[in-house]
Amino acid sequence: MRQSSLLLSLLFLWTAGIKGQSLIPSPLTYQPLTGSHPLERTYRIEPESKAVWRDAKAAGWDLLQHSPLTGRRGHTPVRSKARGIISLAAYVDDPRPEAYALRITPDTLWVQANTGAGWRHALTTLQWLADEGRNAIPCVSIEDAPALAWRGVMLDVSRHFYPVSTLYNVIDWLARYKMNRLHLHLTDAAGWRMEIKRYPLLTKQAAWRDAALWKTWWNGSRAYAHEGDSAAYGGYYTQNELRLLVKYASQRGVTIVPEIEMPAHSEEVTAAYPFLSCTHDPKGQADFCPGNDSTFTFLEHVLDEVMEVFPSADIHVGGDEAGKAAWPTCPRCTQRVKDEALPSVEALQGYLIRRVADYARRAGNRRIVAWDEVLDDSLAQDVQVMVWRDTSAVRKAIARGHDVILAPGAFCYLDAYQDDPSAGPEANGAYRPLSRVYAYRPLSALSPDERQHVRGIQGCLWTEYVPTTADVERMLLPRMMAIAENGWTGGETKNFAHFRQRAEAETNRLRAQGVNAFNLSAEIGDRAAARQTVEHKARGAKVIYHRPYSNTYAAGGDSALTDGRRGGWDYGTGTAWQGFISRGRLDVTLDLGAVTDVNRVALDFLQTAGPEIYLPAHFSIAAQDDDGRETMLFTHSEAEVRHTLPSVETLEWRGHVRTRFLHVRATNGPLGGWIFTDEIVVE
Ligand SMILES: [Zn+2]
Repeated sequence: MRQSSLLLSLLFLWTAGIKGQSLIPSPLTYQPLTGSHPLERTYRIEPESKAVWRDAKAAGWDLLQHSPLTGRRGHTPVRSKARGIISLAAYVDDPRPEAYALRITPDTLWVQANTGAGWRHALTTLQWLADEGRNAIPCVSIEDAPALAWRGVMLDVSRHFYPVSTLYNVIDWLARYKMNRLHLHLTDAAGWRMEIKRYPLLTKQAAWRDAALWKTWWNGSRAYAHEGDSAAYGGYYTQNELRLLVKYASQRGVTIVPEIEMPAHSEEVTAAYPFLSCTHDPKGQADFCPGNDSTFTFLEHVLDEVMEVFPSADIHVGGDEAGKAAWPTCPRCTQRVKDEALPSVEALQGYLIRRVADYARRAGNRRIVAWDEVLDDSLAQDVQVMVWRDTSAVRKAIARGHDVILAPGAFCYLDAYQDDPSAGPEANGAYRPLSRVYAYRPLSALSPDERQHVRGIQGCLWTEYVPTTADVERMLLPRMMAIAENGWTGGETKNFAHFRQRAEAETNRLRAQGVNAFNLSAEIGDRAAARQTVEHKARGAKVIYHRPYSNTYAAGGDSALTDGRRGGWDYGTGTAWQGFISRGRLDVTLDLGAVTDVNRVALDFLQTAGPEIYLPAHFSIAAQDDDGRETMLFTHSEAEVRHTLPSVETLEWRGHVRTRFLHVRATNGPLGGWIFTDEIVVE
């Protein structure tokens, strides 16, 4: 009796937990039916109409007439002489452009869709199910459609350059996860990556640099090289390579969105063509000169070739992080401000984006996408805003009538650590595991009207710390799967445990194929201390702040340092880490409420160099009596940057003292930066 109930509960766990469907993204509805459909070697396809067949054929359904549903080796159809039946029909119940329905019965595969995208999604789902079934697919009814139209990944091919084969692989994964945009960050200081016939120095010179690793180059010479130099690192894609790539992507439902950076992030361009900057200095000029008409001639010529190679209706023009340092003293720029009656030199950025957007509309009937900095300017309403800084920019952009593509760094930037930083190669600062990417709810806090302006969601892989193709694979997979599912479902109904299970199965499948996906099965996860609260003598004790904590990194506010919550690898807003940037940094008195026996006082400090969070240079703990007289218990000094990887260091005093007050101080050294701590533990 006991045994059989144990067996029953095990069976329940198995069916409820493990056996659930494995699709990424999860379909809208998935209704298991009884029975299974034995896989046939070939299929007879019965389209409802010529129009249906034309669309389905273009999406690849015709291949099933001649080849087995699954390309898996060792597949042996059960009834090898028979031909299965696939019935194709228009999906009258759901007119949404990417919707499809799939009903698998023992005899027939019933499929409905209305567009090429719908037919492709249906085929992708069917192949996924066929691949994981042995010789049969469990019967099921699926109705499915995405919540968001733009589901993308951005790859930065400037900071490091990858062979075109890498891009083909990324397109395959995008298609497998029913994503439809590959945004290529083609130009930046670290290298220009697209052949432009009119400006050959962009690829003879601006595509090459004197150090292979971005970090070495950026912290070193920042010098460019020439194509063919023996030590030169870099490369570019020819227009012919890109045309073939565009075609391959298009056959898989993926649009390639090119990005040409302007007016900033363009040191490589002004090095090759110095007349494009205000100073004409070939070194260190990030910004184009918007006062010079030659700048616009250049940008228009470049866009002509870009639009010729990339049929995408959307062209990305960057627009982020302009320094504008040379503009105020440039005679051409100040003249332009006068001529155009602009309110300030700053407004030249808006002028440039406006003029380029006009050109793209006029010359190529294209719409411009730009990073959210452009919101500071007066923009044409048809400019689409890619939001990366914080989600408040979403509502700001929508309120001004812009469509937005959501790529908030806190969730969608895939260049951060996805596991314990000590476990892997260097990444860009923060900790952003799969669970964090998946936790994003792109549509929450938006009204139904506002949601109309959300075109989609995108994961962005900046590649400062992503030198090779293997690194691209590790950083994108599995996190791009979370982006895919958030884009497909809208992210409102979530079950991370189920998603993680599917993502783990998928990464294991990829790894078995030789893809360097992150090994989710071996994930260490967040800092152990952060997973539970800590009990100690100062829990709930009052903390008197002699210097304020940062409002941005307030953690639990006045009670943060005695609330028992420990910080993890993520230092961001809302975590347990309290940040100090004010002069003098951390300076607090802890009031234990009564004279207490104290044997240990310990604080953890976070160090992560990217955002300039450093271990304190000087640290002290003193016992304080009621009159404010202090007895120094512990002092500590050290050089500031001790680790390349993010780390947490505990500074502690052990001994014995009877006291009510403890005075804790931590100051920074000549590097400045932040001090982050999470709890004053007293034992
Ligand atoms: Zn200028």
